[in-house]
Amino acid sequence: MRKITLRNGTELPVLGMGTWNVGDCTERRAEEIASLRAGIEAGLRVIDTAEMYGGGRSETLVGEAIDGVREEVFLVTKVLPSNASFEGVRRACRNSLQRLGTDWLDLYLLHWRGGVPLAETVRGMESLRADGVIRDWGVSNFDVDDMEELEELGGFCAANQILYNLEYRGVEFDLLDRDRVAGVVNMAYSPLGQGGELLHHPVLDGIAARHETSAGAATAAQIALAWVLRRGDVLAIPKAGTMSHLRENLLATELELTESDLAALDGAFPPPRRKTRLAMI
Ligand code: NAP
Repeated sequence: MRKITLRNGTELPVLGMGTWNVGDCTERRAEEIASLRAGIEAGLRVIDTAEMYGGGRSETLVGEAIDGVREEVFLVTKVLPSNASFEGVRRACRNSLQRLGTDWLDLYLLHWRGGVPLAETVRGMESLRADGVIRDWGVSNFDVDDMEELEELGGFCAANQILYNLEYRGVEFDLLDRDRVAGVVNMAYSPLGQGGELLHHPVLDGIAARHETSAGAATAAQIALAWVLRRGDVLAIPKAGTMSHLRENLLATELELTESDLAALDGAFPPPRRKTRLAMI
């Protein structure tokens, strides 16, 4: 699998795993854990969660899934903007660590920008880094102007987690390139359009019919994922709550979209021609 390199030299596979809504349904719990475990075994190191997800239920489930294999995982969680003061960040981090059953985070993100001055959040993040509790910190849902402001504050922002899929291409206009040049890794959230209409689009079905993976005919979901991964400078974190979805997503890394596939996708989902405000879910 292709790799992406963080500014500190850490190499990560371009495909990771999201966990929004996991742990919310008792009947699905065992399979959600099994899917995360299978992903880790297959080399998907990055697991993304957040204190917000299920009010901590996602972090608790992730903690169970990584028990005994913590070293193999690159663990990412996020602090709510309402907890982003200096003391708030430090307290929220301790609570997340407890739910996750670990004593360090690989990456800690500010979930989105709120009312707390950025400088204070950065100070909190840097203090956690100095303590060795987090290896790196970053942000989420930050547009170009937010990134510029952050850069002026100094510090060491490693990643920006943003909405990016065929239906939301606005970041191609400026943010993706800006972050790459600044050494900030872009993490694409909702790369499958949250499993909605995108995966039933006739153009994706048509392209899928022209591709094969080692397990057989390609699917629209694999085309959507292969499209996000095509650039090589974006790390995608689809959420798979079932083993079959997890396997399908893994196989998407085998696909190479052709020029004509990309042109067909551009026709159905036009690239941005002007700046639009960063979309978020
Ligand atoms: P997503 O990954 O685009 O889609 C997840 C949905 O697609 C689930 O319903 C899943 O169903 C389904 N799915 C997964 N693989 C599939 C496949 N191969 N074929 C068909 N359906 C498939 O959406 P997301 O969960 O919103 O985004 C991914 C992750 O990004 C989140 O889990 C979270 O970690 C992160 N995120 C971050 C932010 C932020 O503000 N930073 C916002 C949103 C999301 P099953 O569950 O049944 O497998």
